[in-house]
Amino acid sequence: MRTQVCIIGGGPSGLLLAQLLHRAGIDTVVLERQSRDYVLARIRAGVLEWGTVGMLQQAGVGDRMAREGFVHTGTYLAARNRGFRIDFDALIGKKVMVYGQTEVTRDLYAARDAMGGVVIHGAEGVALHDLDSAAPYVTYRKDGADHRVDCDFVAGCDGFHGPSRKAIPDSVLREYERVYPFGWLGVLSETPPVSHELIYANHERGFALCSMRNANLSRYYVQCPLTDTVDQWSDQAFWDELRRRIPADSADTLVTGPTIEKSIAPLRSFVAEPMRWGRLFLVGDAAHIVPPTGAKGLNLAVGDVHYLHEGLVQHYAGDSHGIDTYSERALARVWKSERFSWSLTTMLHRFPDQSEFDQRMQEADLAYLESSNAAKVVVAENYVGLPY
Ligand SMILES: Cc1cc2nc3c(=O)[nH]c(=O)nc-3n(C[C@H](O)[C@H](O)[C@H](O)COP(=O)(O)OP(=O)(O)OC[C@H]3O[C@@H](n4cnc5c(N)ncnc54)[C@H](O)[C@@H]3O)c2cc1C
Repeated sequence: MRTQVCIIGGGPSGLLLAQLLHRAGIDTVVLERQSRDYVLARIRAGVLEWGTVGMLQQAGVGDRMAREGFVHTGTYLAARNRGFRIDFDALIGKKVMVYGQTEVTRDLYAARDAMGGVVIHGAEGVALHDLDSAAPYVTYRKDGADHRVDCDFVAGCDGFHGPSRKAIPDSVLREYERVYPFGWLGVLSETPPVSHELIYANHERGFALCSMRNANLSRYYVQCPLTDTVDQWSDQAFWDELRRRIPADSADTLVTGPTIEKSIAPLRSFVAEPMRWGRLFLVGDAAHIVPPTGAKGLNLAVGDVHYLHEGLVQHYAGDSHGIDTYSERALARVWKSERFSWSLTTMLHRFPDQSEFDQRMQEADLAYLESSNAAKVVVAENYVGLPY
């Protein structure tokens, strides 16, 4: 099989890149290790920057999001069981959209089907070859047979554990990482959200987040030790702990019910440089990870897609400047979002060696933020997403 761009990974970044390139007349093949049902069952991100909303519209997959998504013009931060609001709209005239990653992926698959695009599910043993030559190719196994895709470029959209980043020689690749000493226990419940906007809460018992997917689907998290297991947390224990950490007025009105999903996720900051090697481009989680505080993971992946699709369209029109500068441009934005996610994580979580003084410093940070318009603008600007 031959294509112009072989895309490894049928998650949001791979599918969005395929969709945008297709609309520009560039042929792609998407190789995905999992089944479509598996990909669509993953519960992940839920807050879209306005730039991401624009990219989805540009890709022609924004209609259902416009109908069913929830526009948020602010968010709440809290300390000591009391919250205050950062009003994005009033501060900088911008907003975000709450629309689940699962729905984004579903819309992208529907668009891929509608245009007859190739997504090969169940592709095993994907391997990248001759990336530093003019004729790279990708091999994989499916249904017991070996296959080969020849291409001009390979887009590594295969997440943190995929093979693309590992195809860059050790002598070239630099990795930067911080692993946080705690995790997030998250639940999904078919209950009305406690707040019409997200609440990020600092508490001496640990961080908590109140989020949502729709009017009757809530997503809540509490910080927990990485040694905890889901079995240790009954629904009742989760709700009790959440109530202790969030603002008192929200705790009083929290509607609880059986949880329909419960999982523990570790938190990590990670960046791999460069994001291009030869004919390979890394995109999204394949190149960088952020802790979910601040909702940047999916949005960063979409930012990469913006730079790469633009560069590839220019390349096929005769100008390679965009792909030659892809790594620098993408990384400049990535590092700023890494900084924001790290700083929000550091301000809001309880660290194992944290003293009472450190706790007071976090609370003072939040009190300053509440009282300073300039500080609120900084948070608002980063939260709604930096320009591409
Ligand atoms: C548990 C969890 C919760 C998260 N919650 C949030 C959140 O609340 N907010 C937020 O902003 N972000 C969140 N994120 C991050 C966000 O989901 C990611 O940043 C986003 O999915 C990145 O998209 P991607 O397409 O780059 O990677 P992925 O979504 O990981 O997609 C990569 C795709 O590549 C496929 N793949 C992997 N290996 C291979 C292979 N060998 N061959 C072929 N295909 C392969 C995978 O199956 C997958 O479909 C969360 C992530 C996780 C893991």
